[in-house]
Amino acid sequence: MAHKYVYFFGGGKADGNAQMKNLLGGKGANIAEMTNLGIPVPPGFTITTEICTYYYQNNQQYPPELKGQVEDALRRLEEMMGRKFGDPDNPLLVSVRSGAASSMPGMMDTVLNLGLNDQTVLGLMKETRDERFAYDCYRRFVAMYGDVVLGLKPVHKDEMDPFDQIIEEMRKRRKVEFDSELPASDLKELVERYKTLIRAHKDVVFPQDPMEQLWGAIGAVFGSWNNPRAIAYRELNNIPSDMGTAVNIQAMVFGNMGEDCGTGVGFTRNPATGENVFYGEYLINAQGEDVVAGIRTPQPINKAQKTDPNTLSLEETMPEIYQQLERVRTTLDRHYRDMQDIEFTIQKGKLWMLQTRTGKRTGFASFKIAVDMVREGIISKDEALMRVDPDQLNQLLRPIFDPRAKEEAVRNKALLAKGLNAGPGAATGRVVFNAPDAEEWAKRGEKVILVRLETSPEDIRGMHASQGILTARGGMTSHAALVGRQMGKVCVVGCNALEIEYRNHRMMVGDRIVREGDWLSLDGTTGEVFVGQIPTQPSEVLSVIIDKKMDSAKSQVYQDYMELLGWADECRRLGVWTNADQPNQVEVALAFGAEGIGLTRTEHMFFEGNRIDAVREMILADDVEGRKRALAKLLPMQKEDFKGIFRVMKGKPVTIRTLDPPLHEFLPHEDKDIQKLATEMLVHVERLKAKVESLHEANPMLGHRGCRLGIVYPEITAMQAQAIMEAACEVKKEGVDVQPEIMIPLVGHVSELKNQRKVVDDVAREVMERYGVSVNYRVGTMIEVPRGALTADEIAEVAEFFSFGTNDLTQTVFGISRDDAGKFLPDYLDARIWEYDPFEKLDQVGVGGLMEIAVKKGRATRPDLKIGICGEHGGEPSSVDFCHRIGLDYVSCSPYRVPVARLAAAQAAIRSKNKC
Ligand code: PEP
Ligand code: MG
Repeated sequence: MAHKYVYFFGGGKADGNAQMKNLLGGKGANIAEMTNLGIPVPPGFTITTEICTYYYQNNQQYPPELKGQVEDALRRLEEMMGRKFGDPDNPLLVSVRSGAASSMPGMMDTVLNLGLNDQTVLGLMKETRDERFAYDCYRRFVAMYGDVVLGLKPVHKDEMDPFDQIIEEMRKRRKVEFDSELPASDLKELVERYKTLIRAHKDVVFPQDPMEQLWGAIGAVFGSWNNPRAIAYRELNNIPSDMGTAVNIQAMVFGNMGEDCGTGVGFTRNPATGENVFYGEYLINAQGEDVVAGIRTPQPINKAQKTDPNTLSLEETMPEIYQQLERVRTTLDRHYRDMQDIEFTIQKGKLWMLQTRTGKRTGFASFKIAVDMVREGIISKDEALMRVDPDQLNQLLRPIFDPRAKEEAVRNKALLAKGLNAGPGAATGRVVFNAPDAEEWAKRGEKVILVRLETSPEDIRGMHASQGILTARGGMTSHAALVGRQMGKVCVVGCNALEIEYRNHRMMVGDRIVREGDWLSLDGTTGEVFVGQIPTQPSEVLSVIIDKKMDSAKSQVYQDYMELLGWADECRRLGVWTNADQPNQVEVALAFGAEGIGLTRTEHMFFEGNRIDAVREMILADDVEGRKRALAKLLPMQKEDFKGIFRVMKGKPVTIRTLDPPLHEFLPHEDKDIQKLATEMLVHVERLKAKVESLHEANPMLGHRGCRLGIVYPEITAMQAQAIMEAACEVKKEGVDVQPEIMIPLVGHVSELKNQRKVVDDVAREVMERYGVSVNYRVGTMIEVPRGALTADEIAEVAEFFSFGTNDLTQTVFGISRDDAGKFLPDYLDARIWEYDPFEKLDQVGVGGLMEIAVKKGRATRPDLKIGICGEHGGEPSSVDFCHRIGLDYVSCSPYRVPVARLAAAQAAIRSKNKC
């Protein structure tokens, strides 16, 4: 039997099903599934993704069996529909759509109304007795074919689509607003003008043979897998480039046959808030792309969603269809056990479902849907946890506008217009009118708001680079809304009041003009657009948790957040600690759920108030005695810091690192600053200069830093140990439990740690005796140079805990200076030498390989060795997953990343549980 490349669906039965996404693509697999569920889907067939792979591996050729299989499927389709492809009296028309395994909304190509030509259009006209409709389909087809298959596109970024340009002229000539107001004669003329345009620009004649059209469209869909916007989308969303797309060929149903027809898109739950309500938009007498492309602003699907009493919802205009659609929504939501994004068409009072897929949603919605579905008994807690992308969690913590500043902006008449609130949050930036400018401005450090009539998939890089996106047209399901939401961008769409002039780089609202470069503030939660900059403030969750300015009972978002993170805590094995140097930072981290401090960088405390004077005095001292005198000044200040932290932590572990950075970081380098300091410190400027010079190192990151400082100047370690232990004793005497963990940085040899441990232990013994208090302290080390990892068995003889300093470990394993990586890293990423920045996301093979060695060797010596990570990777989800897999005890990250780490740790635990 020949290999099966074509899968048929129709008449309540399909060859495929939802599990076959890799072969049939998401769209094909879900259409098959809906067919099998008895949901009305226009019949058709799917050409598998294997063909796409074959096509690219064989010089854009197909396997010989494909032609026969497509023709057989087409015959079957003709029989089912009682029509014939290319028949002038009773033509079968089809749509040709892409559909990859991972959804890539709008990135690849689609051709509708295929099969029309100068003959079949007459058949369609006779059959429907509607000349206008027939030519409307034909002109759409010629334009789509010209664009997608023949590649006739705007030449310049500021130019309009050439086909749109012609139709716009026509609308102007007729003085009408919408295409639907153009009479049949105009549409007929359009077809001819489009054909002439194609001939003039592409030097080809628009094909009249339907089979030629079909193969042209199939080739274009496969070709679109590698168009620049699809490549960019895959890059941004980490979708592998070798999976390929399927092609779906489906009998056309028409939403543009008259007033009893329509088309729409919907979500089985609200994609912005997550509320369990049917949410969607529709247009009467229109074809699908009209809704998504934002050419006409669609109407709300139901009464609940109406904001303008003058609009009519589908629930009102077609109540029976709406009820049917409601039933489909519930069936799909429950069957797929997740919120679905659906497309439908109504042809002459009959509902057809065209597509269902997992709906993109905001971080807010993601949370709410996951939590609600557990409450509704649809999914388990584990599933809910796996559904929320840890990065989306950040959206819940995103800033909002300061309400008072916003009120003032309204009073000052800064409110420019109002659109639809497609992507929540607050964004301020300078206006640009096209995506390449957005990218360029962002590259030079500007914050930008991208303003477009509507966005198209070409714009995604620019959207990514922007703080917020504003469009004049389109609805909540327009491209801008969909993609913006997925990117977590603040997004306002369908702001009809804007009149945008791309060529003049400006827009108007009434008599107000906003020019490129002007400041604009978008409230994506309300849809308001303001001129000028409005200051932002913390999100609702932060207002409850951190600022305590909002009542938790009043915030549903906060309650969902707490519930889901509570489940995360129940199932994670990794502890989540924080990197914090100040009591207020510690409080924030605790409010976010931190269970310990994994790193206090004591040097940060040296910059507080006038402490830097004592630090400099210590550095400039000529002998031990001089250094000790200066350190004695620092001691009480450090002690107070530690006491503050111990009090807040109430017995939770507090890891304090001894001094790490090279000493030159504490001295000025510019002549005028040296001069100033010399005057302040009453030292001779030449002496100060000489000291600065003597501390100069060719490569300070690999120089006199870390434990090397404490070894050369043991009095520094001794002072810090004394401050820690005295603080611990004093706080313990206050009745608060303490758990100090003293951490020695940059250890590569066990002797280094032995040396520093002795200093700490001697001081600790003396302090505890003096206070008459026993403190359960530990001494451990950072593992952040390769030798430390490779000799972890020896180091564990002395260390009671390890903490991976993956910032330095990445630096030393790659042999790349942390400070200089920025010079070439972007080129590396552009050239895809590396897939990601290893300082952001842990290199699991190289750096991670060493970590695994260190864990094994360390625990071979000391089975109960506590091991954590305090490099920046401790808050990055894929790195957290790795830390779980190699058996670390905890991850430590900055306070604001604690919630993300809690969720990522839970997901890691679920993933490994599911693997067993
Ligand atoms: C590290 O190196 O990963 C670390 C946490 O220490 P620092 O960034 O302070 O060098
Ligand atoms: Mg380090």
